[in-house]
Amino acid sequence: MKRVYSGIRATGRLHLGNYFGAVKGMLALQDSYDCVFSVVDLHTITIPYDPKTLKQSVREIIIDYLTAGLDPKKCHLEIQSTVLQHVELAYLLSTIYQVSRLEDLPTYKEKKIQYPKYVNMGLLYYPVLMAADILLYKAELVPVGIDQEPHIEVAREIARKFNSMFGQTFPQPQRFKTEGDYVPSLVGAGKMSKSISGSFINLTDDLETIRKRLAGAPTDSGVIGGELPKTGGTANLFALLRLFKLDKECIKFEQDYKAKKIRYSELKEALAKTIFKELQPFQAKRKEFENNPTLVDSIIEEGQIKCSRMAEETMKEVRLKMGLV
Ligand code: ADP
Repeated sequence: MKRVYSGIRATGRLHLGNYFGAVKGMLALQDSYDCVFSVVDLHTITIPYDPKTLKQSVREIIIDYLTAGLDPKKCHLEIQSTVLQHVELAYLLSTIYQVSRLEDLPTYKEKKIQYPKYVNMGLLYYPVLMAADILLYKAELVPVGIDQEPHIEVAREIARKFNSMFGQTFPQPQRFKTEGDYVPSLVGAGKMSKSISGSFINLTDDLETIRKRLAGAPTDSGVIGGELPKTGGTANLFALLRLFKLDKECIKFEQDYKAKKIRYSELKEALAKTIFKELQPFQAKRKEFENNPTLVDSIIEEGQIKCSRMAEETMKEVRLKMGLV
């Protein structure tokens, strides 16, 4: 059976971008493939974080996964740092990949600007660790958002290089695309992200919070009329209308925009209500897992045991092929 791998950082609560770009893909694949879905805590610590709350944040993502419908009977749920082979494979793969290529990657460049005082080796090394995450399980499909495409390309390059140097070992992973593989930010530019404040709506947000977050989203009221803009705050609000299938509203507000009489408060209210309606069942179900910590503990433990076993199989082969044993 084909393998699938994907991971989410524990930098905050899951937001709409994570849900549409990654979790929806995971849900679509868990019935037909051998899947490993991870909370990638080792990637989390490459940007400023609080060690006191990290463990709880990791657990919250596991609970979000379960609430969203990832079923431990169908897939393996993993906490990355508990499967030590990720780091071992990442180091071995780093010895066959060039530094200059890593320095050129968009995420590294963005993070350098976002955290100029926190440019660490781990940040540069991120795509190598991500390649190791995927290749450790010989995954062929990776359900992630479009922002991760350059990193999947690195994983393919590393797989090809390894295979050519040491013999056929790894498949070349492909991204599994979802309909919402790019959810725009609420700050008017870029993608929705946990690590950009004001950019996101969390799956656990209540109606008031969603309203507040949308109220802060910029619009381009200075230049209304004519064709809808392709980028910026207004374009992003329309993208959200489309994502939530508010087709009628989309047509109406577009006409209003062209006629220079759009009321963004109305648009945002329609969006807030629809988003909240979609999130309500998720929020009700989450309480079941929050109230059952023993169940969550046993799911985490089982994932660790099974994933370590799968990982060790690959590592035995890699150590042998690289001449280390
Ligand atoms: P974040 O940037 O919010 O910290 P992660 O880096 O942990 O998110 O990414 C977790 C997954 O969610 C990845 O598959 C990523 O591609 C996806 N993802 C993150 N943000 C978005 C977005 N705005 N739109 C679509 N997918 C996204």
